[in-house]
Amino acid sequence: MRTGGRVVRLCRRGVAAAARACGDFVGMTADLCWPPACVVCGGTVPSARTIVCPHCDAAVCRHGIVCRRCGSGLRPAPSGGGTPGGRAGAVCHDCRDHGPPFVQARSYGPHVAPLSTMIYHLKYRHRPALAPMLAERLAAVVRAAGWDDVEGIVPVPTTGWRRWRRGYNQAELLARELGRLLGLPVHSRVVIRRHGRSQVGADYGRRAQNVRGKFRVIQERDLLHARLLLVDDVLTTGATAHEVTATLMAAGARKVYLVTLTSTGRTRVPA
Ligand SMILES: [Zn+2]
Ligand SMILES: [Zn+2]
Repeated sequence: MRTGGRVVRLCRRGVAAAARACGDFVGMTADLCWPPACVVCGGTVPSARTIVCPHCDAAVCRHGIVCRRCGSGLRPAPSGGGTPGGRAGAVCHDCRDHGPPFVQARSYGPHVAPLSTMIYHLKYRHRPALAPMLAERLAAVVRAAGWDDVEGIVPVPTTGWRRWRRGYNQAELLARELGRLLGLPVHSRVVIRRHGRSQVGADYGRRAQNVRGKFRVIQERDLLHARLLLVDDVLTTGATAHEVTATLMAAGARKVYLVTLTSTGRTRVPA
């Protein structure tokens, strides 16, 4: 019996090693026939697993000084400088008049290439493989912000139709990777989004109107008294993030922070 078990284990290891060798061979052959290219500049990358070349990776812009509340850029970083999420400065005009519903918001950098191009490919060119490297940037922002009391992560939900058409929700992919990096649970399905118009090109007022009442919490017990981190790819006017935050707070959440990859710098807060 014991000898039989050893033989089975050895066979399994042999099959696994052969499968890995086959996979490597197929990967190398594919690389030779169709050389992998950087999604941003089309330049050469070391292997098909590297989706962005080192040059584009190093060229990602970061924030300089940001509003300590909403994270919008107040002063740009010098070329090649800045920190993930930016350095907290004064509170911006909008936040001074009407504070946003979340405690604080931070983004890795301004919405400019090459980071904006990576987000475009993640969102509209079916490149989910970008999510792990982009989530590492989100993790750097969260660590720099010092939000040590966060207990769980919630991705900004998309509609069922958009998820079906895209095959995934990019905010959920980022949230899952971020949860793995930070060792936090991810509540992917606690908030659902009803169908609404596309937000592309709309101003704050139109966006706020489009998303009003469009989110619903379906598992309230996961949110009760919880300190949550809301995750999205881009912060534009902030209308969607405001509505989801208000929905989470109404369901019993204690605090909501917001992290995004980029912010367009046109963030508004509700009047
Ligand atoms: Zn490149
Ligand atoms: Zn602000």
